[in-house]
Amino acid sequence: MKPVLFNFTDAELSEFVTARGLPKFRATQIREWLGRGAPDFASMKNLPETLRRDLDDAAQTLPCKIVRRLDSGDGETTKFLLEMQDGEQIECVLMRTTYGNSVCVSSQAGCAMGCRFCASTLLGLKRNLTANEIFAQVLVAQWELRRNRADKTNVRPNGDANNGDVSHIVIMGTGEPLQNTENVIDFIERANKDLGIGWRRITVSTCGIVPGIRRLIEWGRPINLAISLHAPTDELRGQIMPINNKYKLGEVLAAADDFTNLHNRQLMIEYILLGRKNSDGETELYNATEEHAEKLATLLHGKNCMVNLIPWNAVDERDFASPSGNAVHRFQDTLIRRGIHTRIRRERGTDIGSACGQLRLNNAKKNEK
Ligand code: SF4
Repeated sequence: MKPVLFNFTDAELSEFVTARGLPKFRATQIREWLGRGAPDFASMKNLPETLRRDLDDAAQTLPCKIVRRLDSGDGETTKFLLEMQDGEQIECVLMRTTYGNSVCVSSQAGCAMGCRFCASTLLGLKRNLTANEIFAQVLVAQWELRRNRADKTNVRPNGDANNGDVSHIVIMGTGEPLQNTENVIDFIERANKDLGIGWRRITVSTCGIVPGIRRLIEWGRPINLAISLHAPTDELRGQIMPINNKYKLGEVLAAADDFTNLHNRQLMIEYILLGRKNSDGETELYNATEEHAEKLATLLHGKNCMVNLIPWNAVDERDFASPSGNAVHRFQDTLIRRGIHTRIRRERGTDIGSACGQLRLNNAKKNEK
């Protein structure tokens, strides 16, 4: 396995360079390129061509390489399937929005949480990602944005924000970040320090790992917290999210309240709206009736929160269906009538399989054939 220069400390990089008979300033040049997310040595234009070739034989730049990339038809979303050195594959998604450029990163290869509507957990948990492997996902997106600017691709002419670097990070891709809390914290510290991404532009999303939320409170940075709720009662939540058998709704929301009160932040509540096909082929609402919305409103009453409603993004292996647009709006109207801030998450990249873990799963199935 080739060494990954991104993983080297400055001293190690300097030693690597001088051991090859090169002057020390080459280490500084390489470090700069690595910090920009250079995917290969060929991109390092201020190094002599022979050196670039030598380095290519001897080492790898980032701890991951792009295996596949998909661009949505509207140019707003780019999804990357990345392969780590040990062959594990993960996904990250770049979203060009009106408020900036957001990257959704994975924190684990696979996931052990077993949520019944999710593709990411179908192959189980393979391993935690290192802080460097999470960081590299942001650099891949950053490199893409800069390349787009140079090539004038995927850049919307009237949106200044879309012409900038990565401005927001959501840790909402494959994996449960609070099962890999210390590496996630390490990663966030570095994203803030090295890339200048403000705490308030970084969101950690959890299915409700209470000790992990308590660890974030102890850590003390004013990032955003999102709770994947997906059901308004313990009974229903327990059916689709096994974690609820360990940490009940009341306990999860109490920990989340402590976090948001500490930082005076609005809590994000993620709620996937699910339907199910009955024997007549009609879609019945699973967690998305007006009665469910009423119960959710009661549960969240008095909290400083925003509910993000996410119409289910189909995963072939899962036995759910997307609710109709009318059902989604009825659910939202009920929450709003009860005074709960609610928005419907705009579907992004449906043409490129944007459901979490779908691309990774499809690729794994293809490789099995
Ligand atoms: S929804 Fe999140 S926590 Fe649940 S299985 Fe999928 S990746 Fe894991």
